[in-house]
Amino acid sequence: MNLHEYQGKEILNSFGVRIQRGRIAHNHKEAVDVAKQLATETETGTGWWVIKAQVHAGGRGKGGGVKLAKNLAEVESISQDIIGMMLVTPQTPPEGKKVNQVLIAEDVYYPGDNEPEEYYMSVLLNRETGRNMIMYSTEGGVDIETVAEETPHLIYTEEIDPALGLLGFQARKIAFNLGLSGGALKEMVKFVSALYTAFVKSDSTMFEINPVLKTSDDKILAVDAKVSLDDSALYRHKDYAEMRDLREETPIEVESRAEGLNYVDLEGNVGCMVNGAGLAMATMDLIKQAGGEPANFLDVGGTADAKRVEAAFRIILKDTNVKAILVNIFGGIVRCDRVAQGVVDAYTNMGDAINVPIIVRLQGTNAKEAKELIDKSGMEIISATEFQEAADKVQEVLA
Ligand code: GDP
Ligand code: MN
Repeated sequence: MNLHEYQGKEILNSFGVRIQRGRIAHNHKEAVDVAKQLATETETGTGWWVIKAQVHAGGRGKGGGVKLAKNLAEVESISQDIIGMMLVTPQTPPEGKKVNQVLIAEDVYYPGDNEPEEYYMSVLLNRETGRNMIMYSTEGGVDIETVAEETPHLIYTEEIDPALGLLGFQARKIAFNLGLSGGALKEMVKFVSALYTAFVKSDSTMFEINPVLKTSDDKILAVDAKVSLDDSALYRHKDYAEMRDLREETPIEVESRAEGLNYVDLEGNVGCMVNGAGLAMATMDLIKQAGGEPANFLDVGGTADAKRVEAAFRIILKDTNVKAILVNIFGGIVRCDRVAQGVVDAYTNMGDAINVPIIVRLQGTNAKEAKELIDKSGMEIISATEFQEAADKVQEVLA
C-alpha cells in the first residue's frame, strides 16, 4: 500500500526522523489557517511556505505541484490553483492525477544558502541477497533517474544483516560517503539510524527520501517521503491501514478488494480466473509459455460459487485489453461441478456483458460432471481438461 508524502512523513517522524514539517489542507481557506499555525511552530523555517500537491506519484515539482509561497496571500492563491488540478508528471497517467489536498510545509531552503545539499536515500529489499539495503547518493533532487541511468557509480549501496540490524559503523560510512563531517556527520548518523528503525518497525517495503536536505546550519531532514507499506503486515498497524486513500487506487483494485478477491492488474490480454495463489502463478507462466500475456492475477479463493464467479468476470472485463478469459479451477474442497454451474449461471446472468471467448479448465473432484455441464450448456464456453490444452486453446481463440 502506498502512502501520501504527508502520511509517510508522519510515520518517519514518529520514529524520530527529522522531517520538513507541515500540515494537510483540503481547500485554500484551510491552507491559510494551517500556514498561520505552522508559522508559530516551526524551528527550521524561513517564514515562507512550500505548497505541495498530495498525489501518489513522484516528479510533482516538475509538473507544477510544488510551489513556494512567500506570504499568506500566495499560500491562498497557490493552494487554490493546485487543489483540484489534474497534475501531470512523468509518473502519472497521461491525463494526470486529481489533487484533492495539499501539504503546507515550512520552507527549509534558507535564502542566501546558495547550494543547499540535496541527497538521495532509499531503503528496500535486495531480492538477490534477501537483505535490506540502503541506497544513497550525493546527487539527490529532482533528477535522480538521470543519475541512475548515466552515472550509476554515484549511487552507493549498504546492505544490512537482518540479525544485527544497521550497525554504527555502517551509518557513519554512509554519512562519510555523503561527504559530511563534524556536526552534519553526527546528524546524518542519527537520521540514517532512525530511518532504518522506522523502515523495520513500520513493516515497510520501500522508503524513498529524495531529497534528504542538509541545511547550512547542519540540520539533516526529509523534505520528501515516498513510503510503501507491506499489505500483509497491515493487520498489526491498524492506524496505518486507515491511511489508505481509495481515490489514489484504480477502481478495479478498489472493487476487487471490496469483493474479497485478490486481484493484480497486469499488461497482457488474457484474463485469468483461478483459485489459489500458486495455481494462479502457474497459470500465468503457462499462458506466457504458450505465447500469450496475462492481463491480471486473480485468485477467487475457496468459494467459487456463481456470485463470486460473476463478480470476478465483471472485474476482469473492466480491463478493455482483455481478449479472452481463462478459468482454471482446481476442485478440492470446492467441487468442480459447482464451479461449472457458477460459470454457467454467471454467463447467463451477464448476457452480452461477456464479449470475449471463455476457456474453462476444471480439474479435481467431479471434473467429468463439470465438463459435461459446460459442454451441454450450449454456451460459447470452451472446455479443456489438461493445463497445456487450455493454454493452447487460449492462443487459438486469440489467433
Ligand atoms: P517531487 O518533485 O514529487 O519529488 O517532490 P519533492 O517533495 O521532492 O519536491 C520537489 C523539489 O521542490 C525538491 O527537490 C526541492 O528542490 C523543492 N522543494 C521542496 N521543498 C522545498 C522548500 O521547502 N523550499 C524550497 N525552496 N524548495 C523546496
Ligand atoms: Mn522528491
